[in-house]
Amino acid sequence: MPQIDSLPPLREVISQHGLDARKSLGQNFLLDLNLTSRIARTAGALEDHTILEVGPGPGGLTRALLAAGAGHVVAIEKDSRCLPALAQIAAHYPGRLTVIEGDALKLDPVALIGKTPVKIVANLPYNVGTQLLLNWLTPADWPPFWTSVTLLFQKEVGERIVAQPGSKAYGRLGVLAGWRCTGGMMFDIGPQAFIPPPKVTSTVVQLTPRDAPLPCDLSALAKITAAAFGQRRKMLRASLKTLGVSSEPLIEAAGLDPTARAEEIDIAGFVRLANAFASR
Ligand code: SAM
Repeated sequence: MPQIDSLPPLREVISQHGLDARKSLGQNFLLDLNLTSRIARTAGALEDHTILEVGPGPGGLTRALLAAGAGHVVAIEKDSRCLPALAQIAAHYPGRLTVIEGDALKLDPVALIGKTPVKIVANLPYNVGTQLLLNWLTPADWPPFWTSVTLLFQKEVGERIVAQPGSKAYGRLGVLAGWRCTGGMMFDIGPQAFIPPPKVTSTVVQLTPRDAPLPCDLSALAKITAAAFGQRRKMLRASLKTLGVSSEPLIEAAGLDPTARAEEIDIAGFVRLANAFASR
C-alpha cells in the first residue's frame, strides 16, 4: 500500500473511532489509497478550486484530495462519529479542510462556499446520491456553481447518467444530465475495495457543465420526461396523455413520430417537446 501522508492508516482510524459502517447512512468506506488517489487525479487540477466533498466519512478520499494538492476542501458529513477523525486531517493540513456537520440534501453549498470556483468530488452515499446529483443538475441558473463533478456511484446509476437514446438505461436522469452536461464513466471499482463490500460494482462518473445547453424550460422538461419514461413501453401519443393535455399537437410541434417510444427520443427531441408543452 502506498503512503500518501503520515496520518494513521484508514483501518486504524476506523477502529480507533469505532466507525462501524451504517447502512442507513449509505456507508461503504473506500480504503484503497491507489483508488482514492486515482479519483483525486481524475478530478484534474485541484489547487485553484474549492473542492466540495459530500460524505468524507473516515476521510480516505479527503486525504487523497489534500495530498494531491487541493487548495481547500469543504466536506459535509452527516455522521458525527466521523468528526474526530476528520479533525485530525484538518490539523495535518492547516487551513485547507473545513468540515461541516450536516445533511448535504439540506445545505446550500453556495452559501457555505461563496463564489469561488468549485469542483465536486465524492464517494456518495448510495441512498441519496441520485438526489444530490439531481439537485446539482437543476439549479434555476446555468452554468451552475461547480465546474465539474467527479462522483462514485453504483455502476447501474452511472450507466443511467451517461445513457444514450436506444439503450435500456436511457431515462429521465440521462436526459437531464445530457441536456446540461457532457461527461462519461471514467473507471469501475469492484466491491472488494470497500468496507463493507457493496453487492455491486461502482463507477466513477465525471460531468462538466455545457456552457450553453439547448434553451429549455426545466420544469416542462421534468414533466415531459416523467410522463414519457413513466410508461416507457407505451407510444408517446399514449404516455404523454398523463400530462392532462392533448398529446398529438405537442408531438407534431416537436417534429416527432407519435408512435415512437420514450427511449427512441434523443435529448434535442425532448427539449422540443418540453418547449412545445411550455408554450401551449
Ligand atoms: N468518502 C468516504 C469514503 O470514500 O470512504 C465515505 C463514503 S460513504 C459511501 C458515504 C458517506 O456519506 C458516509 O460517511 C455517510 O455518513 C455520509 N452521508 C450519508 N448521508 C449523508 C448526507 N445526507 N449528507 C452528508 N453526508 C452523508
